[in-house]
Amino acid sequence: MKENANIRETLLKEIAKCRSCRFCVDVCPTYQASNGLESMSAYGRLQIMKYLLNGILEFDDSLTFCLYSCLQCKRCEIICKSKGQNLEICELIQLGRSLL
Ligand code: SF4
Ligand code: SF4
Repeated sequence: MKENANIRETLLKEIAKCRSCRFCVDVCPTYQASNGLESMSAYGRLQIMKYLLNGILEFDDSLTFCLYSCLQCKRCEIICKSKGQNLEICELIQLGRSLL
């Protein structure tokens, strides 16, 4: 349980660093394949995790699919870093999965 609390704390702290610039959205292949569903983008996945952790959303199959459909390709991280942010998006998504 303590481990889960640490993961939740880490996720909320790291996701709070996101500036919502959305540069990571268009480069995400699952966003492209979904014809523009933001919940299938890197930014969307971070928001989903934040809202789940804050209790605004509840886990369901579609949100679980959003997190598990990430390909871990790191395209989002590359653009995030090139724009001056340094979010380890793939690692954060893996942490989110570990809480499911
Ligand atoms: S590029 Fe980085 S800072 Fe910008 S929305 Fe995506 S995760 Fe957030
Ligand atoms: S790592 Fe996941 S969220 Fe990031 S661009 Fe690839 S599929 Fe999208």
